[in-house]
Amino acid sequence: AKKQGRNGYCFFEHGMNANVHLQMQMQQNLRQAVSRNELVLHYQPKFVAPAGPMTGLEALLRWQSPDHGFLSPDRFLPLAESSGLIVPIGNWVIEEACRQMRVWYDQGHREWSVAVNLSAVQLEHHSLVDVVREALKKHSLDPSHLVLEITETTAMRNAETSLTVLNKLSALGVSISIDDFGTGYSSLLYLKRLPANELKIDRGFITELAQDNDDEAIIQAIIALGKTLDMRIVAEGVETAEQQALLTQLGCNTLQGYLLARPAPPDALLEKIAHMTKR
Ligand code: C2E
Ligand code: CA
Ligand code: CA
Ligand code: CA
Repeated sequence: AKKQGRNGYCFFEHGMNANVHLQMQMQQNLRQAVSRNELVLHYQPKFVAPAGPMTGLEALLRWQSPDHGFLSPDRFLPLAESSGLIVPIGNWVIEEACRQMRVWYDQGHREWSVAVNLSAVQLEHHSLVDVVREALKKHSLDPSHLVLEITETTAMRNAETSLTVLNKLSALGVSISIDDFGTGYSSLLYLKRLPANELKIDRGFITELAQDNDDEAIIQAIIALGKTLDMRIVAEGVETAEQQALLTQLGCNTLQGYLLARPAPPDALLEKIAHMTKR
């Protein structure tokens, strides 16, 4: 054995692929993450451009693993998706976000909505519509307080099935948001058929804005397209005051990014918001 795991047993034998072994161990641990209360949601606010008020929050998953540390989704989502564990994990996310939204609502934040990210595996799973309906019912939450974020790529993986499920979700009254827009390959015809209320311009286009005229032209085109289809336009990953000003000028309705607020646990977040509104 080359290395001792934190929990005592050997991480991998001589000659064995360390990465494969670690992935196997992670998958085993991930299987129990929900029941052991190791998953947490951080929330990142969305603001009316340029600087508020806040319109809602996006739930972003984190795994506090005793063996692997505090992990961002990119460290465990691929494993959760390939193993199918994303279904029970995603169900927990939906339920927990609804519970938290109910708490905020009861504190007087009646205009807010909470957004949950969905993977393709979840969208294609037969239980999704029931899970969403039950979570809303359990917390007596009006569906207008829930947004489901789906990437273009996710929707396109199984385009017709996705359309059926999204129409059912939309009929429940929840909002649909197209995430990472501009990075996928959906046709305009397909986009037009999607029952989406919101379009999020991918961070990639925002990052280079102000340096790159092409990105500005692309963002202008996306905004025009979104407005034609009657969608709210959100820019994600806004990091500078210059981007904030330019996006507002271009007609973005909603801004999200480190400049305005980083993802944080609910308590820390409320302190920050209270501070912002006092300024
Ligand atoms: P996403 O949905 O595109 O979320 C935005 C990501 O960008 C988040 O990373 C967020 O922390 C980060 N971000 C926000 N503002 C800024 C900024 O100004 N600059 C930069 N550089 N980054 C910013 P995070 O939390 O690591 O999540 C990564 C991805 O994991 C998400 O991308 C989403 O696709 C996925 N994800 C997160 N939570 C869930 C979940 O509960 N279920 C599913 N299926 N996927 C999730
Ligand atoms: Ca998202
Ligand atoms: Ca995104
Ligand atoms: Ca992304």
